Amino acid sequence: MKLSKMLLKTLRETPAEAEITSHQLMLRAGIMRKLAAGVYSFLPLGLRSLHKVEQIIREEMDAAGAQELLMSALLPAEYYQESGRWEVFGPEMFRLRDRNSRDFCLGPTHEEIFTQTVKGEVSSYRQLPLTLYQIQTKYRDERRPRFGVMRSREFIMKDAYSFDRDEAGLDVSYQNMYKAYCRVFDRLGLDYIVVDADSGAMGGSGSQEFMVKSETGEAVVAFCPHCGYAANDEKAECVPEAMAQEEPKAMEKIYTPNAGTIEELVEFLGTDSKHFAKTLIYMAGEKPVAVMVRGDREVNETKLANLLGINEQDLAMAEANVVTEVTGARVGFAGPVGLNIPVYCDKEVALMSNYIVGANESDYHFINVNAKDFTPEVVADLRTIEPGDACPKCGKPVDTTRGVEVGHIFKLGKKYTEALDCTYLDENGKAQTSIMGCYGIGVNRTLAAVIEQYSDENGIIWPVSAAPYQVIVVPVNMANEEQAALAEKIYNDLRDQGIEVLMDDRDERPGVKFKDADLIGIPVRITVGKKASENMVEYKLRKSQEVHEISADQAIADACAWIADELAFERKD
Ligand code: ATP
Ligand code: MG
Repeated sequence: MKLSKMLLKTLRETPAEAEITSHQLMLRAGIMRKLAAGVYSFLPLGLRSLHKVEQIIREEMDAAGAQELLMSALLPAEYYQESGRWEVFGPEMFRLRDRNSRDFCLGPTHEEIFTQTVKGEVSSYRQLPLTLYQIQTKYRDERRPRFGVMRSREFIMKDAYSFDRDEAGLDVSYQNMYKAYCRVFDRLGLDYIVVDADSGAMGGSGSQEFMVKSETGEAVVAFCPHCGYAANDEKAECVPEAMAQEEPKAMEKIYTPNAGTIEELVEFLGTDSKHFAKTLIYMAGEKPVAVMVRGDREVNETKLANLLGINEQDLAMAEANVVTEVTGARVGFAGPVGLNIPVYCDKEVALMSNYIVGANESDYHFINVNAKDFTPEVVADLRTIEPGDACPKCGKPVDTTRGVEVGHIFKLGKKYTEALDCTYLDENGKAQTSIMGCYGIGVNRTLAAVIEQYSDENGIIWPVSAAPYQVIVVPVNMANEEQAALAEKIYNDLRDQGIEVLMDDRDERPGVKFKDADLIGIPVRITVGKKASENMVEYKLRKSQEVHEISADQAIADACAWIADELAFERKD
């Protein structure tokens, strides 16, 4: 491709709307443009990289024995009504009606539709196991679309679904996908960890997420450097910190004027936040509930929603007027004693003694509160893990890191096959419900994650596997015939060898060309300058500062060899 002909506009300035590196660079390098909040168009350069990611996924899915098909994004409501998710998805689902007033949605994920397809096409145990996948556009009306295609409202997902006869079969299919996912992310050169994830509202017996390490990631992962335990913080089990057990004293009400936050109380009482238990009022759907965690801890809303058996989106902190109605006090003075709504108490609180809570009266707290002073509905693990907490597996301190969830694998069990009555006939001619797994990769999010991990202050540094072009040939001065001719020759020779080449044949200053080449991140740059008459060029890798002056033939040979080496990938088990 000649740059003079290409639809490509790079931006020198960082667009104000873009907060994270990948989003900034995807706009600056002319990869994509925003159309509406969370809706993007991919331009020619970006689409090439997006296709590379798709192709790697496709190759690994195919190698794993999964079969590709393609479904519509426009889906009739009935299957989602049958599974119950027409309601569960709530406002995240894009809904529409056809001219005959029939309900449709733009598919947020396709479990129901694959189940329905398998129900129609599979009748015998002989046709199982079966793993099907598609690479297709999904729609989710995210509450907070942000970070470009990291969290967009329209995105491409590779979604795969396995159907097995039994749990043992599912284990095999799941492991198979696990390995295929590792290969996909390895080929893209990503630094990732696989973590245990919450199975939450999806049901099922287990799930793992593939997290690309990144400071800007929206997910928090707890990991143990000692034993290798790793889990999403929504899921990571908390071990209560052992605290000295004191002899219970008599509960006492104290005046704490205007000390409605933990910080104010710590200041007022001159004590440590570990000696408080905070009580938070939540709305579980229409129902107010109270949740207690130690003063320095955070409530884990995923764990709370799971305990309450509701969707996380149906859980919200109560408004101030509800808090006052429920507790009889201003916000900041809630406590478990005498409260007439259910109290859900974190395990750690149950181990505390003589602690401080709100008195359900403005400006008052109780001190010396103990287990005997109130009756919780349930005592459970309800807090979020923190760095330094004991690892639930080995007991040593865990650490936390941020990550971008690029993939998710899930043992679903019978949730959808039961709801949609997807059965097969076994050896005895008896109908059995098939067991399902589902496996997703966010394609554009993965592309953004690659950029998050591969860039410097000058722009993107594409790994060859995801690069839109592998080599850029830069003639310094197009008006110089020797330079233009040698550049053209290198361009053609490389193309003949199957290399994807871009040539910057624009009539621009060399500085502009080099800046653009760096910004769009092409892995190999071959610069044709003054020494063109001697058949000499400059050879530079985007990821290195070194510039080598070598012959044009050597540059071509080096580029071919290096690219082949970078792309080499052994699919071993
Ligand atoms: P998240 O917790 O980030 O919202 P999710 O759990 O809703 O993700 P899944 O339903 O498991 O995501 O979807 C499978 C994959 O699709 C995710 O691992 C992610 O890579 C991608 N994905 C999900 N939502 C989005 C989005 N709004 N924009 C881009 N990619 C997304
Ligand atoms: Mg989501």
